[in-house]
Amino acid sequence: MEIGPELAEMRAGLRRFAERELVPFARLMDQGGDYPPGLAEALARQRILGLRLAEEHGGAGMGLAEYCLVQEELARCHPILPVLVASSSGLTPMAIQRHGTPAQRARYLPKLPRGESRTAFALSEPEAGSDAAAIRTRAVPDGKGWRLSGAKQFISNADVADLFLILAVTDPARRGRGRVTGFLVERGTPGLHVGRVDRTMGTDAWTVAEVTLDDCRLGADAVLGEVGQGMTLALESLAEGRLGVASICLGTADRMLELSIARAKSRTTFGAPLAERQAIQWMLADSATEVMAARAMLYETIRAGARGEPIAVASSMCKLHCSEMAGRVADRAVQIHGAMGVMRGQEVERAFRDMRLFRIGEGSSEVQRMVIARGLLA
Ligand SMILES: Cc1cc2nc3c(=O)[nH]c(=O)nc-3n(C[C@H](O)[C@H](O)[C@H](O)COP(=O)(O)OP(=O)(O)OC[C@H]3O[C@@H](n4cnc5c(N)ncnc54)[C@H](O)[C@@H]3O)c2cc1C
Repeated sequence: MEIGPELAEMRAGLRRFAERELVPFARLMDQGGDYPPGLAEALARQRILGLRLAEEHGGAGMGLAEYCLVQEELARCHPILPVLVASSSGLTPMAIQRHGTPAQRARYLPKLPRGESRTAFALSEPEAGSDAAAIRTRAVPDGKGWRLSGAKQFISNADVADLFLILAVTDPARRGRGRVTGFLVERGTPGLHVGRVDRTMGTDAWTVAEVTLDDCRLGADAVLGEVGQGMTLALESLAEGRLGVASICLGTADRMLELSIARAKSRTTFGAPLAERQAIQWMLADSATEVMAARAMLYETIRAGARGEPIAVASSMCKLHCSEMAGRVADRAVQIHGAMGVMRGQEVERAFRDMRLFRIGEGSSEVQRMVIARGLLA
């Protein structure tokens, strides 16, 4: 991606906005619970929510490049802030924008840019994580529509979401394409229950929860896209989602490097600043090199996508590399900060914990390697 004058200006404006308005919210996010009141409104005023939705739905009509840039900048402020943006412009919203009927788009999309609604994407199940094709949640036609039964697990923001994209098996005789269908299910629909909410080792504002479907009856108009097209539209959203995740990891790593440099300059030991010690300089050099390489591969992949080239394999490479790189950079940042680096409330401590989630969520590192290897060997 070219950081031309327009994107550079957008980045500068965003950074000013984030430093001025979002940093106080970021501090509150570490004190537990949901996103702090006022945060969604602040993001909505800046047209960050629903960024990728078309203007006719109230969105900013921006592309993947702008979305990734925003995710990168917000992550510098707090790694979990972009997760809120993803629920208005990520997996489920983009699937609705691409595959929804005019009625579905009109019903669900306009609330997202206003911060009045949040979405969840429900694929994983107790017996189906990496092997997503093994899902068992079943949707059976009943003459008027569909009846859904099954259980989903580890669903981000399920406890606060207003709308769920539920992936369910509609044709169990098939193994691959044609087996699964996507259903849009509103919170409050009889038979849809949000169960245990799990706290991760990361920031409490990002929760995951169980969702059960107990003979949940839906009209025929709940189907997103075509019957049997569910896994295709899920994988299409996930492929783009990997670039969003890579951007979050890149932004966090960039911030960790900035903090590491500042600490190395300000902390004196044995009569000299840490920055004068080769052991510390090498850590900074390694982190800076890794951040630069990650940025180059991510931006090149976004550029290739904009040229219309296939980027599924490259997106997996970006997700794999950026999430693992951010873990290493955050680890070095903790080390450079010494005891201060492991104290609760420190940005580096928080990022170290938050970054660990990204090597598992939205396809683990091993699954990304499988996708890459399949691409190489095809
Ligand atoms: C913070 C967070 C948020 C999430 N949000 C969502 C969400 O919103 N919606 C949703 O649907 N899911 C969500 N998930 C679930 C996530 O997609 C799964 O956790 C992920 O796909 C891995 O599945 P699993 O946890 O069942 O691990 P498993 O599939 O049980 O795998 C366990 C380990 O074995 C490795 N492994 C598995 N198979 C192989 C293999 N063939 N070869 C080598 N290694 C292998 C995996 O990489 C992993 O390290 C979230 C997870 C997290 C952590």
